[in-house]
Amino acid sequence: MFENLSERLSGVFDRLTKQGALSEDDVRTAMREVRVALLEADVSLPVARDFIKAVEKKATGAAVTKSVTPGQQVIKIVHDELVHVLSGDEDPGRLKIDNPPAPVLMVGLQGGGKTTTTAKIAKRLKEREGKKVLMASLDVNRPAAMEQLAILGTQIGVDTLPIVKGEDPVAIAKRAKTQASLGGYDVYLLDTAGRLSIDDELMAQVAAVRDVANPRETLLVVDGLTGQDAVTTAENFDARIGITGVVLTRMDGDGRGGAALSMRAITGKPIRFVGLGEKMDALETFEPARIAGRILGMGDIVALVERAQETLEAEQAERMMKRFQKGQFNMNDLKAQLDQMMRMGGMKGMMGMMPGMAKMQKQLDDAGFDDMVIRRQIALINSMTKKERANPDLMQASRKKRVAAGAGQEVSDINKLLKMHRQMADAMKKMGKMGAKGLMRGGLG
Ligand code: GDP
Repeated sequence: MFENLSERLSGVFDRLTKQGALSEDDVRTAMREVRVALLEADVSLPVARDFIKAVEKKATGAAVTKSVTPGQQVIKIVHDELVHVLSGDEDPGRLKIDNPPAPVLMVGLQGGGKTTTTAKIAKRLKEREGKKVLMASLDVNRPAAMEQLAILGTQIGVDTLPIVKGEDPVAIAKRAKTQASLGGYDVYLLDTAGRLSIDDELMAQVAAVRDVANPRETLLVVDGLTGQDAVTTAENFDARIGITGVVLTRMDGDGRGGAALSMRAITGKPIRFVGLGEKMDALETFEPARIAGRILGMGDIVALVERAQETLEAEQAERMMKRFQKGQFNMNDLKAQLDQMMRMGGMKGMMGMMPGMAKMQKQLDDAGFDDMVIRRQIALINSMTKKERANPDLMQASRKKRVAAGAGQEVSDINKLLKMHRQMADAMKKMGKMGAKGLMRGGLG
């Protein structure tokens, strides 16, 4: 997310912070560069202009230029201004779905990620808010799309409205409503049909569905990679249908990300979620401070730490930490770390959140190191005995063969795993000496 923009800005700010004293001209020059970076990220011109104006006004005063750390002050001002532009809803992740069953209308162009996002939101509502959720596909022109939603539903354990051939979208919406009431559902998500571009027929169909469903929320799902087009799409849908929020998908790519910055200012509609991958967990609430941090290349340690806390129980973490400090790091620990990595969205999910990791990701990709490798390593550990996991030194040649065969792999794979374990154990030992803080950081990285 925002990699190019982030890189450009960090270049500008590096120069600013290196200079001890700053003149107003220095700030103006830097702001011109920021403006170009924003435009290159496909932020719309008026938004970029207002942004720069606001920053310049605050950053050229003597309070900043004459301060001890002028560069940092400018960055702080840019950060706050970013948060301001990005800000929308106070609690973007909380959908307004009281008074069950609450209808939520999902709209957008075909291929934008609507069906995927519908399922992601359903999963989130179910798991985080304990809601009973029903999903229905209204995409009668594309039977495959209806099937896709049903498959995702099974995968995430969320009910979908049975498909009835030949029914029109309005009739499906009505049936969904009845089913949701009878079945005691808290919320039902209507995945409307998309088209490759906005046309009258699509809009008329979605409007007809909206009129019978009377949705509590209407979320537009748009591809974040499409930049200003995403914003135009949002304006169009809002004018014709009326939307309550936006979900920007594909923010995991190295897209230019300008849509995120322009959306609120131009459409007046808040971004509620961002899609960060194809997996069902790859959805995050859109939190301005966090996003601003990412744009400024500060990495997203907050998100990383929070996710780690969600996935790893504190007690377990503490127990592990104590053992690492004593230099004990066995295969069970390695497996716990690998499992946790997978739960946190795999390599990509984690890397994206760490500062400077975008580049490293590429190297890992090139080296063929991906989630599959992690899964295979977990499989190997799983086929070891309890004793071997606690003490990997027990792994002699014959056992290596057995364990590898058990996991459908080669002895060389086992050797690689053992080597990695040894290296990590050594690193853990070293970090243990640095104390808990260093360890935590190292453990996450
Ligand atoms: P729809 O036509 O709008 O319903 O789009 P789909 O939900 O079928 O998504 C189209 C493709 O985009 C699928 O292959 C999805 O897996 C993929 N996709 C959806 N959201 C994201 C996202 O946030 N990141 C990435 N990388 N892919 C996504």
